[in-house]
Amino acid sequence: MTEPSIFTRILTGEIPSEILAQTDNVFVIRDIAPKAPVHLLVIPKTPRYRDVVELAAGDPALLAEVVSVANKAAAEHARGDFRLVFNTGAGAGQTIYHVHAHVLAGDLDEASLG
Ligand code: 5GP
Repeated sequence: MTEPSIFTRILTGEIPSEILAQTDNVFVIRDIAPKAPVHLLVIPKTPRYRDVVELAAGDPALLAEVVSVANKAAAEHARGDFRLVFNTGAGAGQTIYHVHAHVLAGDLDEASLG
């Protein structure tokens, strides 16, 4: 059996992190190491999908919900405009294989997720 991901451990309360918003299927937290003035993570509650490619193929409605929740979170925590990033694969900087969207907002000139 595989270990629960960090995000599942946050969702169950094992690792403390404020949950800023949630729906039945998705939750939002602040990134612990922000790369932009506003850096949120929008995460499906299910750990079933490793990355956005799997999510898009397996549950496109859930991917659409991630985008919708990201839009609402950016409206609430920033001025509305935002960058949505899915690191996909280690070579692209992915470190947690439980799909999540980075929502980056604020002054993005310096923002990099490489
Ligand atoms: P990835 O590198 O997989 O695209 O993104 C994983 C993100 O999760 C990183 O930006 C990292 O800073 C964030 N992260 C890792 N551990 C924790 C944690 O325990 N709490 C929170 N809030 N974010 C985390």
